[in-house]
Amino acid sequence: MGCSGAVTEHDRKLTELVAAARSAMEHAHAPYSRFAVGAAVRLTDGSVVVGCNFENASYGLSLCAETVALACVNAQGRFADVEEIAVVGGAMDGSGEALVTPCGRCRQIINEAEQMAGREIAIHCATPSGDRIAHYRITDLLPDAFGPADLGITPIRKS
Ligand SMILES: [Zn+2]
Repeated sequence: MGCSGAVTEHDRKLTELVAAARSAMEHAHAPYSRFAVGAAVRLTDGSVVVGCNFENASYGLSLCAETVALACVNAQGRFADVEEIAVVGGAMDGSGEALVTPCGRCRQIINEAEQMAGREIAIHCATPSGDRIAHYRITDLLPDAFGPADLGITPIRKS
């Protein structure tokens, strides 16, 4: 909510993005950790692509919600169009109301998306209820990151 208490367009869109992440969380394949995470990515045209964690009996092959969502965005040819990402996670038994932030690997992948998009990606981390939302930039979560620019790769430009 803004200072005035009025629900702004920005607030409404953020609430919608967090709700999409929470909804994706319900599809998590997480029988091992019993910890579900959902992510929702908003693209420049306003469309939303979601992901949820996708665990595997081998454990080590498990994929995080943020990684799944960004890989889906890329599969749609939209990797340069990422504007913001919301992440929601929590124990599947409903206990706990903590903020979940992206793991180290996902921070690296968000950094890849940001550098390829050539724009700052807003990262919103919400509690399962959506009562509390923390906002980050990738430069906060992964300072001095190694990325595409270090290998001479420039942002994807669309005409
Ligand atoms: Zn992760």
